[in-house]
Amino acid sequence: MAGEGSSKKETVNPKAIIHQRFGDKARYNIEEVQDNSSNGCPGLVIPQKGPCLYRCNLELPEFSIVSDVFKRKKDAMQSAAEKALEKLSDPPVEDASDQLVSRLSYLFSNEFYSICHPLSGHIRAALQRAGSLNGFVPISVMPIFDSKISNLCKSIKPETDSKPLEVMSIIRDASTRLSEPVLVSNEFMSLKRTTPYPPEVLESIEVDFDQKTYVNVLRIPYLVEKVVEPLTLDVSANTYYMDAIARELGAADASMVSLSRCIGKSSSETRLYSHAPNSYKWNKEDFEDKSYLNARASYLSGQDVYGDAILATIGYLWKSCDLFLEDVYPRTYYRLLMNKVPTGIYKLSREAVLAAELPPKFGTRSNWRGLFPRDILCTFCRQHRLPEPVFSLIVTKDAPEETSRCEVKIFSKSQNLILHCYPRESFKKQSDAIQNACSRILSLLNDYFKKLNMPREGLTLTPCRNGLDLDFYPEHISKELNLFSLVCKNLLAIDDDTKQSNGVDDIPSYNIQGPDSEVFASNGCIVCVCYSAFLVNEGEKELLEKNDEFEFELGTEAVIPELEVVVGQMGVGQSARFKAKLPSLELIFAANGDPARVSSLLSSRGCSLEYSTTLLRVTEPLEDRMEKALFSPSLSKQRVNYAVQHIKESGATFLVDFGCGSGSLLDSLLDYPTSLESIIGVDISVKALARAAKTLHSKLSTNSTNPVQSSRLKSALLLDGSITTFDSRLYDCDIGTCLEVIEHMPEDQATQFGNVVLSSFCPKILIVSTPNYEYNVILQKSTTQTQEDDEDKNSAKPCKFRNFDHKFEWTREQFQVWASDLAGKHNYSVGFSGVGGAEGVEPGFASQIAVFKRGFELTEGGDLAVVPYDVVWDWRSTDE
Ligand code: SAH
Ligand code: MG
Repeated sequence: MAGEGSSKKETVNPKAIIHQRFGDKARYNIEEVQDNSSNGCPGLVIPQKGPCLYRCNLELPEFSIVSDVFKRKKDAMQSAAEKALEKLSDPPVEDASDQLVSRLSYLFSNEFYSICHPLSGHIRAALQRAGSLNGFVPISVMPIFDSKISNLCKSIKPETDSKPLEVMSIIRDASTRLSEPVLVSNEFMSLKRTTPYPPEVLESIEVDFDQKTYVNVLRIPYLVEKVVEPLTLDVSANTYYMDAIARELGAADASMVSLSRCIGKSSSETRLYSHAPNSYKWNKEDFEDKSYLNARASYLSGQDVYGDAILATIGYLWKSCDLFLEDVYPRTYYRLLMNKVPTGIYKLSREAVLAAELPPKFGTRSNWRGLFPRDILCTFCRQHRLPEPVFSLIVTKDAPEETSRCEVKIFSKSQNLILHCYPRESFKKQSDAIQNACSRILSLLNDYFKKLNMPREGLTLTPCRNGLDLDFYPEHISKELNLFSLVCKNLLAIDDDTKQSNGVDDIPSYNIQGPDSEVFASNGCIVCVCYSAFLVNEGEKELLEKNDEFEFELGTEAVIPELEVVVGQMGVGQSARFKAKLPSLELIFAANGDPARVSSLLSSRGCSLEYSTTLLRVTEPLEDRMEKALFSPSLSKQRVNYAVQHIKESGATFLVDFGCGSGSLLDSLLDYPTSLESIIGVDISVKALARAAKTLHSKLSTNSTNPVQSSRLKSALLLDGSITTFDSRLYDCDIGTCLEVIEHMPEDQATQFGNVVLSSFCPKILIVSTPNYEYNVILQKSTTQTQEDDEDKNSAKPCKFRNFDHKFEWTREQFQVWASDLAGKHNYSVGFSGVGGAEGVEPGFASQIAVFKRGFELTEGGDLAVVPYDVVWDWRSTDE
């Protein structure tokens, strides 16, 4: 071992040593590394955007050297510097076992003692060990904390990868060949340097031995029935932390402790420590006794762990020679579990374990909150140690505009196909195609994990073709899935019933308080709430989770159903309190409550979860914001005026609003003196109808004392139903309105509505409005400055739809062809007009309007028995 440079006193890392020797002549070049570029997948492989890996090329005057691959640039640079130091101090050796010997001799050198390295900390701490173990370093830590050692062992015996025992024998054997002898303790698989370190080397590291340090860790019993148990370890500087862990595990000393890989983030130093059985030393057969398999620890680490295990965040790092540690709580464990399923990853990314849900579909980038589907999928793969997913974009150029589809493949480590998703839907933006495909996969995975939670009979690991766009071969990750079903019994709620319907019946009892507000949220709005979730039991309360500002898009199932329903009923500034279904124990423990209090509350019966929330803000969808900001009067006002004008001209008494939503048209009509006597609104959204009922009710009850307005109105009715099916109560009205509704249905249903309305409902006049796609250019131009969606700013194609819920938006020609065909088929005449913009000026009106007029007299009264719609609200005038 060359002794040059070993005289320095201060603590230095490899990079600092290189700097001392070479100064500016040492040049570091960082490159990004993609580890899945060779999957031979057809189509374009797009660059990986998620956290990428780095490799560093260090150029020195005599040679250059390449580092291993790391998540952080810093680590890659340190690794390159370290490799350069080795090369500088050692003659080149060909043979891997020779290299292992020289690596070991470097690890016990004076130089290594005083640099910051994950392993040098162990060497220093070993000198604090008492009695006969003083100076002995457990062999088990060497391959864990020195990648060079573990790589060399791998090249000596490739099959050692998953066999820690074999690795340790290789290192022990190599240590007997060191020129400067190292003591080998066979009893305790440990190594000790024979010659003492010189005092100046020992002094080069300053440690405060008087300081007491404690760290919270967790015991994870191998019996799944036993709960994880918090412990506190004394890891003061005058001890060796591995000994403290050994004591808790009942192991003779640190060398009897085996270490897992890092759990969660690879830079976390969170590991599982377990007791190697007594046979650990020489008899490897007993080592793999399955009855002691610790399912929870094995699932978390992806390695076989036997017996009880300790979960701790502790270790030495590159950047400092002090011991790094962080407390681990039961919640840490449950969060690590959550981080292995898509919903869990999403909930954690939102820091809302008890409120957030992973939306089943991807809407728009600007309305999505939390980690994007693609990032969730990449995290999922990383957590399961699968290669990064492979994305292929299929771009179609022949349409009027370029569109993209995205296929995704997920492979196992051994390159078996686990999942292939090939949605047929095309998108204008490539990123939308990718996010949608990922979202599709995530919902499949969630469903699959839920299925694993069911009784074992329900467990099938057969390949499944799900729908028409997804192949899944779970047998290629069956080991993981089996462990999952043992470990995460309740992590995902199995009961989906509450999600499926959002009818009025399911609204939990809640208590809205605060001044009445004009501002409500409807689907597609971004709402911002604050909330607290408590565990309550007979007057006792424990705060589990709290968020001061929590945003989500209403109507996308981005939060628990109870919260979504209640917020949908609230005005800005109002607060509500409601009870929700008790989630799984795992989720409750993953929240921020005090574990002891939570356990005691849960152990007594009658425990429930209570939320209190306040609606802070509502941001309307882009469409509504544009309509208000760009037109005066606002576009919706102009549509109302348009309808009023037709009512006046025709003297209509009976009006039907098809797709009335929350009743904006009906409500406004009541502000004008008209000839109307009967009005009906119909919609498929019960939530919107409930809001319509509320506003109409308050207006009609005040209007009854105001004889000037709406004096003629005799009845108002709100019905829940789809306007594509006939209901005789809507037959033969004087005027039908269908404003900004058809674009919310798939095109074929819009046409079905057209046919049904003109052939069965038979209004005398029908007014249909829908956005004019050609006008979007203008809307976009004038709103992009005020928009926060920065991705869209750079988009070359500004013409996206105005609202996430729009299934289509038509040009003037498309709309006129649609309407003229319908009119011709059903003996109506049709004329075209619009609001927003001016007649004859390109690109036409903002909202285009078709006015159909019935060209025939009705002969019979229609079938009065057809009444499929449900009455939501029924008002009759009391004047008679
Ligand atoms: N006409 C209202 C609402 C427009 S939003 C206004 O101008 O303010 C579109 C509405 O169409 C939504 O409330 C939606 O629930 C409703 N809708 C969509 N498909 C429908 C269908 N098949 N039957 C009835 N209503 C429908
Ligand atoms: Mg619309």
